[in-house]
Amino acid sequence: MRIGVFVCHCGSNIGGTVDCAEVARIAGTFPDVVYSTDPMYTCAEPGQAAIEEAIREHSLDGVVVASCSPRMHEPTFRRTVERAGLNPYMFEMANIREHVSWIGKDIPSNTRKAAELVEMAVEKLRKDTPLTPAEFPVTRRVLVIGGGVAGIQAALDCADGGIPVVMVEREATIGGKMAKLDKTFPTVDCSACILGPKMVDVAQHPNISLYAHAEIEDVQGYVGNFTVTIRKKTTYVDWSKCTGCGTCTEKCPARHSVDAFNEGIGETSAITIAFPQAIPKKAVINRDFCRQLTKGKCGVCAKVCPTGAIRYDMEDEIVTEKVGSIIAATGYDLMDWRVYSEYGAGRYPDIITSLQYERLMNASGPTGGHIVRPSDGREPKTVVFVQCVGSRDPSVGRPYCSGFCCMYTAKQAILTKDHIPDSHSYVFYMDIRAAGKMYDEFTRRAVEEYGTEYIRGRVSQIYPDGHGQLTVMGMDTLLGRPVVLKADLVVLAVGIEAARGAKELAEKLRISYDSAGFFLESHVKLRPVETNTAGVFLAGVCQGTKDIPASVAQGSAAASKVLTLFARETLKSNPQIAKTIPGRCVGCGKCARCCPYGAIRENVANGETTVEVIETMCQGCGLCTATCPQGAIQLAHATDNQILAEVNALCQA
Ligand code: FAD
Ligand code: SF4
Ligand code: SF4
Repeated sequence: MRIGVFVCHCGSNIGGTVDCAEVARIAGTFPDVVYSTDPMYTCAEPGQAAIEEAIREHSLDGVVVASCSPRMHEPTFRRTVERAGLNPYMFEMANIREHVSWIGKDIPSNTRKAAELVEMAVEKLRKDTPLTPAEFPVTRRVLVIGGGVAGIQAALDCADGGIPVVMVEREATIGGKMAKLDKTFPTVDCSACILGPKMVDVAQHPNISLYAHAEIEDVQGYVGNFTVTIRKKTTYVDWSKCTGCGTCTEKCPARHSVDAFNEGIGETSAITIAFPQAIPKKAVINRDFCRQLTKGKCGVCAKVCPTGAIRYDMEDEIVTEKVGSIIAATGYDLMDWRVYSEYGAGRYPDIITSLQYERLMNASGPTGGHIVRPSDGREPKTVVFVQCVGSRDPSVGRPYCSGFCCMYTAKQAILTKDHIPDSHSYVFYMDIRAAGKMYDEFTRRAVEEYGTEYIRGRVSQIYPDGHGQLTVMGMDTLLGRPVVLKADLVVLAVGIEAARGAKELAEKLRISYDSAGFFLESHVKLRPVETNTAGVFLAGVCQGTKDIPASVAQGSAAASKVLTLFARETLKSNPQIAKTIPGRCVGCGKCARCCPYGAIRENVANGETTVEVIETMCQGCGLCTATCPQGAIQLAHATDNQILAEVNALCQA
């Protein structure tokens, strides 16, 4: 072989603590290395051009670049060597930045370690063979999971780009949290007025099929060819007949207060339509409260429904859909703030969450937009807002900032004054985080134009004062003195967490999630909508806190990734996958059982079991190769022989 080694300085990132010229000199002494050098920036255009030139000039048939993490630049360098006529897989990388220069300051030790890593890479490369990816056709359809504003934007952009979209929404209507909001910061425009038309577009778009009140049961396959199993949860109403007239909801005698859309504020019936602008606008029976389904007595809705849509015998339905790509847009939920016993742990009706307050202010909410106290229906004159309830609080396992609470609290204080001119609002805050466009100006308006009183400090206790008000005890940390307020209503800006069931969904999609349950992007700065599973993208708060503008932007970004993916008729698979060695395999099937991607098929013929790797499904994770007791399944370019060669190189160094 004729190998070239390029030891990158990465400016002073590597060059500052590694003697790169010395590493290049040592590399020149390794077997088969015919050329070695130490460029300043290998990934920059001149650096890549130098590699191409060296390949041609020295007739190289393999290249090692010692630089940064392969996660970032391996594809870049593979393309570089390919441009010069090499097989892109005749290339290896040694990570001497994250693994050496960034973790040690001692130049001689770093230089020695870098040289050892380069030697290992050279030994591995000596056993590499050219690989060719397989090409396979793509199903040009996308699945969008979650119909909040992020999912809606992603779906509309894909659909407008000519890609058929399957949208799966867990609730009976799309719209997510934005559909529950009254007005939105920083423009204080009506949420339904800007979201409503987009929701209608989803319903009317010829390229979008919507499954509402449905959940993902299973996902199989790989980029370009996923098979998704969807559970259509029973609604007890035949939606093909339901016209959304609402007669059933008016006549249903079973009233209860578990109204999910209104966040438990006010009463609803056992059969409901989420809200007047719901998409789809169809009725759903909550079986827990339906007298017919729990006691076998009632049937009022079936009698009054003019289209005969009620079906008490309805059951869940399972459907499958084939798609080539998936966008997860499952948003967030508010954390269960009742862990805060000092705020009454949910015992006092006039301590409510910010989302409940949105429903109280909303004209389509349970009070028709009149702000009243849940306890006695009286208009509150003093409203106290408490920020960071379950945000930036490690004591309840939520050290992170929920991102948008400072802004919506300012909005809610402004709207309170608009609704009740003779009211007064206080806001307890830790810091005001208003970094967006026009955001700081907006929070100032709450103070300067609307007279909201901001108190920097935490609230230590809230309890009823016995005379119809709440006592709010806190600390003004700027003035260094305790504060005691009387409030008619307390609104808690409750911190957010990943949507219920997000971890289970992540496991079905085979994507990672962070310690808070939010889905993990492939690279925090440079691949913020991709995941580590090819073809699965992220949009909105499911990836981390975002307000509406940022969620919409990420929805469009995810859609653009899908459109880029589908711009080609076929996709290439990664050839660095598992391969069986038939003579060694004893058919024990351990590999098939451990493969997390279901990529190994067991074939039984004449009483003998053999295994087969499904090339397009294997992700090259290597679990099977580590599990096989016979060494009968090997990962291309990470074979046992290659790993041993690397270890030998290290031991002899
Ligand atoms: P979501 O709105 O949470 O939508 C996610 C959707 O996915 C939901 O419909 C959910 O049912 C669905 N889903 C979840 N899991 C699944 C599953 N497994 N399968 C299928 N579907 C699933 N931002 C602003 O910019 N301006 C404001 O004025 C503003 N006010 C706010 C006020 C309050 C009180 C709160 C709490 C937030 C406010 N926000 C505001 C933030 C705003 O709510 C979010 O930025 C926005 O809703 C994020 O949209 P999303 O689509 O990512 O998530
Ligand atoms: Fe639908 Fe019938 Fe109820 Fe009207 S009465 S909303 S058609 S189920
Ligand atoms: Fe309400 Fe159930 Fe009676 Fe229908 S059958 S009216 S949903 S209680």
